[in-house]
Amino acid sequence: MIERWTMPDLPFFDDSHRALGERLADWVEQAEEPAEEGSAYFRQECLDVAAEMAEWGFLGYVIPDVEEPAPRVDVRAVSLIREALGFRSALVDSVFTMQGLATAPLWLSESRVLSRRYLGPCRRGEKIAGFAVTEPNAGSDVAALETSATRDGTDFVLNGTKRWITNAGAADHYIVVARTGEAPGARGLSAFMVDADTPGLSVGPEVRMIAPHPIGELIFDACRIPATNMIGAPGEGFKAAMKTFDIFRTSVGAAAVGMARRALGATVERMRGRQLFGNPMGQMPTVQAAMADMALDTEQASLLVYRAAWLRDTRDGRHSDAVAMAKLGATEAAQRVADQAVQLFGALGVAHGSIVEQIYRDVRPMRIYEGASEVQKLIIGRSLMKGGEA
Ligand SMILES: Cc1cc2nc3c(=O)[nH]c(=O)nc-3n(C[C@H](O)[C@H](O)[C@H](O)COP(=O)(O)OP(=O)(O)OC[C@H]3O[C@@H](n4cnc5c(N)ncnc54)[C@H](O)[C@@H]3O)c2cc1C
Repeated sequence: MIERWTMPDLPFFDDSHRALGERLADWVEQAEEPAEEGSAYFRQECLDVAAEMAEWGFLGYVIPDVEEPAPRVDVRAVSLIREALGFRSALVDSVFTMQGLATAPLWLSESRVLSRRYLGPCRRGEKIAGFAVTEPNAGSDVAALETSATRDGTDFVLNGTKRWITNAGAADHYIVVARTGEAPGARGLSAFMVDADTPGLSVGPEVRMIAPHPIGELIFDACRIPATNMIGAPGEGFKAAMKTFDIFRTSVGAAAVGMARRALGATVERMRGRQLFGNPMGQMPTVQAAMADMALDTEQASLLVYRAAWLRDTRDGRHSDAVAMAKLGATEAAQRVADQAVQLFGALGVAHGSIVEQIYRDVRPMRIYEGASEVQKLIIGRSLMKGGEA
């Protein structure tokens, strides 16, 4: 039995968000139970979920129409969607998010030809996208990337390995950030669109993660792509990745809020029914205090997330510090909520397949990807040292 998701009642939303919230609540209500834990997650499942997200109109929120004068995404809408998806299924959340994350560098750049070719099929849920930045020796330190893209006539030739790539093997195409060498470090990186069937690109074995993410390795061995597949200007790859993360980090926090809400709801239900020492557990003051902490964590996280989303949507500037606080605050809070839920469930909380056990695992990677918690603290700290906005 799944509890009903309702959108948070906060002052950051307008009528369009409230209409979306109702639609999301309907989706949550009718969505099937997430796939059996441990089942493999392959291309067809990605396509099925993407098609469903397109049918409900959700993908249009995360992949804007490039024919519009100034394409943009409504971060509050994307965050609401991710909260509802996170509440229901980390798997669906992953597919939805990657369709946006792994296409954003296109519409954020001036690359209209590539945008027209690749965005439509992804928005319709017909193609699956991937975004490849991380490498064996370059994770948090993106400037240390080693994968090279060397100009050869009208082509670029890619060599190197990308690791921990969501949708590796399932995607139809990847945006790949590689070293073109215009300058040392981050300023010598460029972004490229690479079709999955390009000769010289192979996929390593799938890696099983703690949570349902289809993850693998991409190996580039003299992989030749047309120079016209460069996204934006040479040397702008790092900037493209950071701009993309600026949009999506807030929504990572939103998905974490959805997971925290589900864990809290499941806990309250259990505390009402579970008898301990002759009474429902929820009557014990210590249990009520624990649930109060969970509720406080969840609501604080929600406020941080939708404040950052509202700032991004309505105010000029990057608001990197507010975005970092949303991602850091919400993912850390959701982990505390999930951990407390597991504790209150007792042995059932650590039994494979119980809802709180699943949420406990689902939240964990969010504190690492798209900038680990420590990286978010650096962003906030730097902003403070600069005396304000990052
Ligand atoms: C589920 C999942 C999906 C992913 N999907 C993708 C994807 O689609 N595409 C992609 O390119 N990458 C993806 N990644 C990779 C992700 O971006 C990296 O894991 C992340 O950037 C951290 O890099 P790393 O794992 O190499 O850890 P490292 O960079 O080795 O860092 C290890 C730890 O060090 C700590 N740390 C980092 N920086 C600092 C600091 N400045 N000060 C103090 N401590 C610090 C953090 O706790 C961090 O977790 C994914 C990862 C996960 C878990």
